[in-house]
Amino acid sequence: MKNIRCFLTALVLILASFTGCSSETTEEILTETDVIDPNQTSVSVSEDTESPEDAGEAAEVAEELPAEPEEAEGFVYERVVLLGVDGAGNFFNKTDTPNLDRIFENGAVSYDVLTSDPTISAECWGSMLHGVTPQCHRLSNSLVSSTPYDPESEFPSAFRVIRENDPDAVLASFCNWNPINVGIIEDNLGVHKDSAGDAALTKKICDYVAENDPTFLFVQFDEVDGAGHGSGYGSAAHLKQISITDGYIGKIYEAYEERGFLETTLFIVAADHGGTPGGSHGGLSDAEKYVMFAAAGKTVEKGTIGDMEIRDSASVVLHALGYEQPDTWTGRVPSGLFEGVEACERPVYTIQYAYEHRTHESVPTPEIGSGNSVVDVLGADRVLTYLTFDDNTADAAGKAVTAEKGKLYYVDGYFGNGCKFDDGSVAVKDYAVGTDSFSVSLWMKTGSVSSDPALFSNKDWNNGSNPGYILSLRSGDVKFNAGNGGTRMDKEYPFPIDYMDGWVHLTLVVDREAGEVRFAYDFGEFITAEIPAAMKNSSFDAYKTLCIGQDGTKNYSAALPAVLDEFVLIDGVLTADDVKALAELYK
Ligand SMILES: [Zn+2]
Repeated sequence: MKNIRCFLTALVLILASFTGCSSETTEEILTETDVIDPNQTSVSVSEDTESPEDAGEAAEVAEELPAEPEEAEGFVYERVVLLGVDGAGNFFNKTDTPNLDRIFENGAVSYDVLTSDPTISAECWGSMLHGVTPQCHRLSNSLVSSTPYDPESEFPSAFRVIRENDPDAVLASFCNWNPINVGIIEDNLGVHKDSAGDAALTKKICDYVAENDPTFLFVQFDEVDGAGHGSGYGSAAHLKQISITDGYIGKIYEAYEERGFLETTLFIVAADHGGTPGGSHGGLSDAEKYVMFAAAGKTVEKGTIGDMEIRDSASVVLHALGYEQPDTWTGRVPSGLFEGVEACERPVYTIQYAYEHRTHESVPTPEIGSGNSVVDVLGADRVLTYLTFDDNTADAAGKAVTAEKGKLYYVDGYFGNGCKFDDGSVAVKDYAVGTDSFSVSLWMKTGSVSSDPALFSNKDWNNGSNPGYILSLRSGDVKFNAGNGGTRMDKEYPFPIDYMDGWVHLTLVVDREAGEVRFAYDFGEFITAEIPAAMKNSSFDAYKTLCIGQDGTKNYSAALPAVLDEFVLIDGVLTADDVKALAELYK
């Protein structure tokens, strides 16, 4: 019998925290974790590098504590079914759902489960399956469509935890929106993965269940979300599609019934997010952020589930199967779902800062010629523009002419001051790169980001195919895009896990001779992407300026919520040795 000890997990995680760097920041964030926005702030920060040891000691202490909760000896389900309805929010009770009514007649239901922020599919499904907020799993729609989830991640999916506990578990995922299979559920677990339209998917699932006995079956229906985008969430078309999906759910339930599985199965229906009457989602309106979660099973308590967040779904799955959840998860089994099970205190996960420079405190900008300036390190000949942002946007290298737009704010930088771009931008005038190679080195500090504002760009970013290039800042990553009017290239660079509100160094190299774009965070290894053949001889020019904090039009809808410092535009390519020299300069 595997024991459920979530209260111990919580204790371990709290004990495992930190001794404090800028303890002010840490305490402030921890306080928020405890009382303010439970969806957002479970990620607290610390630069204490000794904590892993502390965590080990704390774990030992916790192991010695007496008395495990009663439910540890409780009923263990043989299987769990989690049927997800994309974009259904909590609209299930606004339309006819005879199957849900029947299945959950004696079940536990909540219509106000708080989903993840932003209310976007990858972020929300990611939280549902990985038991953490997007700040930890860092999944985004663009990432999951092409990038397999790290099989070694410290935030495993429920699939991985089940597999690691039971090599013989039968695992299956049927998703209309296949990126879940590609980028959210790990690829190396022997999960049976399939994808089709909702009706065809239902047929595949019923056929599969007739022949197999899946320990954990995950399903994602997508057509409700499509109807919401097309006609508005809560519209007649959206509600009608929920009723149609109710029919699919009924068929799957019957497939389990026919196999005689119901007695030993936990059956769940849930949504990832809702949406607005206007047909969008991503924001935090009630219609977007509250979703339904319904469970039926032998030990499920009839009635209303207590405080629940979408990340708790993963905890529910593991609890039902009798497995302990990972110490890194911040989900928990809610009260009012399983008979006799009260929610433990929400586990806290403390992200360690990987680099001391995350919490670097400003020191004066070294003077050019002192040997300690970035211009000295890289060589004055190669530096085209050097913006220190020490209370102005003048080029400290004395080469470029710059122009400001809107309001810029000067705050503590890495060296001297840095510039906050929330309401303004700066343009390096008369800079046309053509087919020349160029590089950029800069420091950035950012928090949560919505949309995809420009860090710097010379193009009209309303369309990625437009001529020119951009390095844009997004929730969870930085993205390079270039286009020539026909072909485009896009490459995403997921943030280091501890980037939030700390200094992060970015190096971008556009090497036209090699036909490559290279990028590095924090002076690490370059990540290389090929420039498509159709763009190899294209000019990268669009507007003849390099805009910082805006795209080339200076009118892109999203402003840049970041502080930048030490912006250096370099002629030609920065080499790995240059990056080492920069690391030395900025250490
Ligand atoms: Zn979705």
